[in-house]
Amino acid sequence: MSPVTRNIHLEEMDGFEFENLCKVIFERLDYGEVELQPPVGDGGKDLLIFSPQGKIVVECKHQPNTSIGRPIVQKLHSATISEGAVKGIVVTTGKFSRQAMEHASELSPTIELVDMAMLRDLASRAGIHLMCGKETAPIHTYHVLTENEVSDVTANHLSHDMISHPAVIGDVLSIKGLDVSLRPVYRITYKIDAVFATTVGVLHRECSSGQLFIDGCDGVDIQGGVADYFASTPYDKMVRWEDVAARSHTRSRAFQIQRTSAKEKALGAIIQNHTQTIVYHGRNNQRYTKVCAPTRNDIFIDSISQEYIPEYQADYLLAGRSQKMMFAANGTPSIHVVDDSTATCPICRSHISGSRSLCNECGLVTCTKSSIFKRRRHALQCEICGMTLCPHCASYVRRSLLLKKIVCSRCGDDLARRGKRVRKLLPAR
Ligand SMILES: [Zn+2]
Ligand SMILES: [Zn+2]
Ligand SMILES: [Zn+2]
Repeated sequence: MSPVTRNIHLEEMDGFEFENLCKVIFERLDYGEVELQPPVGDGGKDLLIFSPQGKIVVECKHQPNTSIGRPIVQKLHSATISEGAVKGIVVTTGKFSRQAMEHASELSPTIELVDMAMLRDLASRAGIHLMCGKETAPIHTYHVLTENEVSDVTANHLSHDMISHPAVIGDVLSIKGLDVSLRPVYRITYKIDAVFATTVGVLHRECSSGQLFIDGCDGVDIQGGVADYFASTPYDKMVRWEDVAARSHTRSRAFQIQRTSAKEKALGAIIQNHTQTIVYHGRNNQRYTKVCAPTRNDIFIDSISQEYIPEYQADYLLAGRSQKMMFAANGTPSIHVVDDSTATCPICRSHISGSRSLCNECGLVTCTKSSIFKRRRHALQCEICGMTLCPHCASYVRRSLLLKKIVCSRCGDDLARRGKRVRKLLPAR
């Protein structure tokens, strides 16, 4: 187990994103409130930090393999003075020339120089793993369940909704076949801050952060339950993929798309998910609608990490009958079920969303829809021993002209031996 930090690859960032990254780092390290400066006409300042000691002016240079010279330091120093700031910081993804360092050491207010090595250090203290060049982040996955664990989680999942008497579900369930497939995904976390204004003022502000999963094979934005399920997985439940891939019962599908195209797909999906149509009234009291779609500059991609999501297909016998369940599991006791063969009643073919019943004689799993007519019910119980039964296995004895007493085969045989007339509830199939 290793704690997962956010991974950012510097080569995927443009200058604007780099400024945003610096903002996030300074914020996370509690320098103070950080403000991005308008990109045009900046006199050597990209960020303003309002620290408890006073203003700090920051210049961000995303120029790997470049040496920052003395003029940049000079320019920032002038900006520091004109801004009335207590300090200036130059951050670069490259390094500083000797002249720049010598010059900076003589200045007041102080100009701090942060080169790539120092930046990585700051970032890692802020929980961000900065990568550059050919460097790649470790790929994570989730604890892969063993066959016994699959049996347990399946039984546990079924027990929530399934009535069974006297058999305990875990005791009558056995795994017959198990296929574990690791699905490659990009987990992308982002922040969005978009303001939509017209002549009548600010209409709408979209300000939030989120996470999404992009399929590593086809680039599709994985939405819905699976994404929510994995988005909420605690980081300490994640493990290194290499350790898991060595195990024989898993197979991993390969990543087909690159990080950069995953990022493009994510940006498209984020813009789409955060686009809203706002209705407002103009000065002339006329009603207008405006489609508020954030632009790429409103979105900051916080991290892109590669993961494998374990998907399971379990074939199992339940009370002697073959069943199948497909689910995803994140290593916590709860699983995310995608498909479950017991969720369709074999008698009425309807989808069972809630409680279902396991016939302890034949293993049929049926819905529990009620009817005043016992022969129309799909789930019954022996009125002597309590065994759960399907209508095909149920027998009855008459209590009165109208009342039938449902019994299982064994209780029925007992009654028959004592001279009672026992009949099948349904005619033989
Ligand atoms: Zn039914
Ligand atoms: Zn049955
Ligand atoms: Zn019985």
